[in-house]
Amino acid sequence: MSAAPHPPGTVAWHRQGIEAGVLLLARCQVCQAHHYYPSIVCRACGSDKLAAVEASGRGTVYASTVNAGDPGFSVAIVELAEGPRVLTTLAVPDLPIDAPVELFFDDGSQGRRPCFRTAP
Ligand SMILES: [Zn+2]
Repeated sequence: MSAAPHPPGTVAWHRQGIEAGVLLLARCQVCQAHHYYPSIVCRACGSDKLAAVEASGRGTVYASTVNAGDPGFSVAIVELAEGPRVLTTLAVPDLPIDAPVELFFDDGSQGRRPCFRTAP
């Protein structure tokens, strides 16, 4: 997403990506570490040279639990293929640890949010 007017590392930048249907990561230009949530410096090496990249949308279930308020979804931590872990929701409850998942966006009553489902 090269036309993003917000600099990588801001909440507005992150939110803009979600509204556009992409999950943005910041990649450190020094050590190549990827960061999911907005940050103005690399949490691995301290560099402020971060560039925006789109997440592939692929990942695996790192942890999950039942959401008693919405049994159709599970609260989960997904480890992205790029490395960062994302606190998110699974559209398929009871997926085992390490199950492959893919990103989609749920346009619910609370706005668009990144979610994951079983990968084909
Ligand atoms: Zn770095």
